[in-house]
Amino acid sequence: MNRSMRKRLQRLAESRGPAIRRETPQQELADTLYQRQWQRSLEILQRPEEPALNAIRLCHSVHEASEQAWTVSQQLRKARVDCKAGCAWCCHTPVRSTILDAIGAAAARLSQLIDYDLPHRDRPSLLSNFAACPLLVEGQCSVYPQRPVVCRGYHSLDVGACKQRFDSRNPSLEPPMDVDLYGLVGMPQLATQDVLKQLGIDCRPVVLGLAVVALQNDFEGMVADWLNGGAAFENAIVL
Ligand code: SF4
Repeated sequence: MNRSMRKRLQRLAESRGPAIRRETPQQELADTLYQRQWQRSLEILQRPEEPALNAIRLCHSVHEASEQAWTVSQQLRKARVDCKAGCAWCCHTPVRSTILDAIGAAAARLSQLIDYDLPHRDRPSLLSNFAACPLLVEGQCSVYPQRPVVCRGYHSLDVGACKQRFDSRNPSLEPPMDVDLYGLVGMPQLATQDVLKQLGIDCRPVVLGLAVVALQNDFEGMVADWLNGGAAFENAIVL
């Protein structure tokens, strides 16, 4: 992080931070999830300069908070989610994720003691609708513990609708979802993204496959440039 970003970070850490509204249980939960992750993000970013490690820590903290948000929100919403392990209809799409999530997924791939090369995929196939996500290996997510927040929150209340959408290759057939549950799971990510935005760090969405493929060539360099306000992910940005 450059000097002016450090100053902004210091000012944010000294500010009162986001407030919690308590009008409804759902609003209070959303604001609590947001506030906790806001503070956690500042704590991680204030650690001594180790860009790659800090980015991975930040990503893991978002994932941990999203996991907790899923558990608590499901108890509140009582949604009857129809998703099961091994079901991957929704993994056939050019996933749009945050840059931080792409870093988390790439780091998870790098830490696996298996052949790191993603299946050979060119740019058009990584962008094509209904093509398998490059992180889907033999029907399973190869980075499941570090899958992006969009994959954590995305769910279906009717798996038949997911299959129908896939079989008909009709992207407008969105399966039924509890949008409030989806929103609550995304609150920690929103908080971290807002902190990063205020520091001047690129928060544009990326095509997950493109970003992970780029990261496998220069993980440390891209992450350091990104955390320093650079546009290392320009070629993976969602147009
Ligand atoms: S990252 Fe994992 S969960 Fe998300 S679309 Fe790809 S294979 Fe599926």
